[in-house]
Amino acid sequence: AQHFLARIEAHRGLNAFVAVDPEETLAQARAADAAVAAGTAGPLAGVPIAHKDIFVTRDFPTTAGSKMLKGYRSPFDATTVARLATAGAVTLGKLNCDEFAMGSSNENSAYGAVQNPWDATRIPGGSSGGSAAAVAARLAPAVTGTDTGGSIRQPAAFCGVTGIKPTYGRASRYGMVAFASSLDQAGPMARSAEDCALLLSAICGPDLDRDSTSLDRPTEDFGRSLSDRLEGLRIGVPKEFFGDGLAADVRAALDAALKEYEKLGARLVEISLPRTELAIPVYYIIAPAEASSNLSRFDGVKFGHRAAQYGDLLDMYKKTRAEGFGDEVKRRIMVGTYVLSHGYYDAYYLKAQQIRRMIADDFQRAFQSCDVIAGPVAPTVAWKLGDKSDDPVANYLADIYTLPGSLAGLPGMSLPAGFGEGGMPVGLQLLGNYFGEAKLLNAAHRFQ
Ligand code: GLN
Repeated sequence: AQHFLARIEAHRGLNAFVAVDPEETLAQARAADAAVAAGTAGPLAGVPIAHKDIFVTRDFPTTAGSKMLKGYRSPFDATTVARLATAGAVTLGKLNCDEFAMGSSNENSAYGAVQNPWDATRIPGGSSGGSAAAVAARLAPAVTGTDTGGSIRQPAAFCGVTGIKPTYGRASRYGMVAFASSLDQAGPMARSAEDCALLLSAICGPDLDRDSTSLDRPTEDFGRSLSDRLEGLRIGVPKEFFGDGLAADVRAALDAALKEYEKLGARLVEISLPRTELAIPVYYIIAPAEASSNLSRFDGVKFGHRAAQYGDLLDMYKKTRAEGFGDEVKRRIMVGTYVLSHGYYDAYYLKAQQIRRMIADDFQRAFQSCDVIAGPVAPTVAWKLGDKSDDPVANYLADIYTLPGSLAGLPGMSLPAGFGEGGMPVGLQLLGNYFGEAKLLNAAHRFQ
């Protein structure tokens, strides 16, 4: 813990952490030592980790990257935080992220952008940008993130680390500041699939009393088949993931990675996910719709910020929300409110839900001829800070390869697969069928 606290201090310029408390961390580390001495240590005893600032924590402040929650402290720990603590992990601090996890570059954080440790002039990806940067810069051996439409996979890819998002419903959403409830999932990022398996095994499991979408599936040892041979594994390669929009440097790295898989005994099968492009408009209707509803709780009464000067109650709401939310959050609240409103609901929201189901069905058809699906995480390597910061649509379009799996609720991961333009890391995305986490981690581990 001391080693990582010193590195965090030495690399403050990255802006990966939004909260640290060395005394608290060292107290947790001493408690872990005592548990080891007493023979009561959990499987992660003394492992220093850090949490995306979207998980509420009792011992550290929680902002969700928003001015709205500046100075907020939760009276309880998120289930993910509590489970990792029970396993013995020690918390180094809280990690920067896009405001309410809305973004792909971490530039939407009210606490400033995060630098990509590979090239400080580039974005780390988002929304779990601080998480990915922290692992890449060795400020923490492993961290948590959340993935609604790619926020674990894409920053992992951009920072050259490994990350996994489980099947929707396996990780509890209790204590995760809600963005889009039908999509939000927690997961780990680390230097290897093996480390991810250790954390994921501690995170996943039923939390039926606290999360109404938690699945009643027993906890699992996701590392149990890490070393299984890949002979005969059928890897589906969706032709829509390798079209014109994919940059040549990313494509070259992925082609090489797929050849490597063939050498390991896997067989490549061409598949089709015909509604890939539709995932963008579908997601950018459903996610804002859910966000507009979830964020109604930030009204200046129950949590965080309240405007200092106001007239009546309605004025207090308006001023509080105008001051507390950033531009992207406001944009999504407006889009979400619009698509849910009377007269537009059928045309937008309902239509999007119908196509969402068709996208999920496309995956089930594809999984009849393959065991896992491989493709890019993003169309390019990490772009330059500022390049797309005033162009929301350009950001949305770059989510094309992560959104389909999210809408279907499938497990997905990103693993380092070489380098592209500017020497920047390229990620390979692996998508599995429901409950296929162990298979994904096995495929990643053999490659690594
Ligand atoms: N980039 C996507 C968005 O802006 C996904 C974010 C996420 O997964 N939290 O909504």
